[in-house]
Amino acid sequence: MMKGVFLMLGGNLGDVSATFNQAIALLNASSVRVLRCSSHYITPAWPDPSQPEYLNMAVEVEWDGTPDELLAITQSVEHELGRVRSVRNANRTLDIDIVLFGSKLLDTELLQVPHPRMHERLFVLDPLCDLAPDFIHPILGEKLEVLRLSLKNG
Ligand code: AMP
Repeated sequence: MMKGVFLMLGGNLGDVSATFNQAIALLNASSVRVLRCSSHYITPAWPDPSQPEYLNMAVEVEWDGTPDELLAITQSVEHELGRVRSVRNANRTLDIDIVLFGSKLLDTELLQVPHPRMHERLFVLDPLCDLAPDFIHPILGEKLEVLRLSLKNG
């Protein structure tokens, strides 16, 4: 069983909190067991703060398949909950990213893990640090809480 698999959920359209609950139910129904959830964080839209604010949360899941299989499930959940892919960074009801897959490093056409920009974004590190402040970033070799504080303090 793979440990330390973390997903980031985000959205800025509709009742995002309700969408998160539905997403968690769908993940659990598709054999991705949600173990723990962070608080919900309201964050400015990135990169265009004039767009509606985002709600973000991190979840830790238990998963014993491959990363690609997990991505297929998270994409089907996004799809089921109304995400329509349009332009990059468009407003969305739900985005699910695989931010960490234990200490695994992946860099394929489909998947980059750890998510390559996670350490530059407080909207990822804040919720993630609710769950795993002492987790060592497998490339940067620092605890997530250290990365969060250095980003926060500029
Ligand atoms: P987005 O439209 O921002 O949700 O990006 C989705 C695309 O990013 C998909 O085509 C994925 O194959 C790709 N991708 C690369 N790395 C990841 C990751 N760690 N988690 C989720 N999607 C990823």
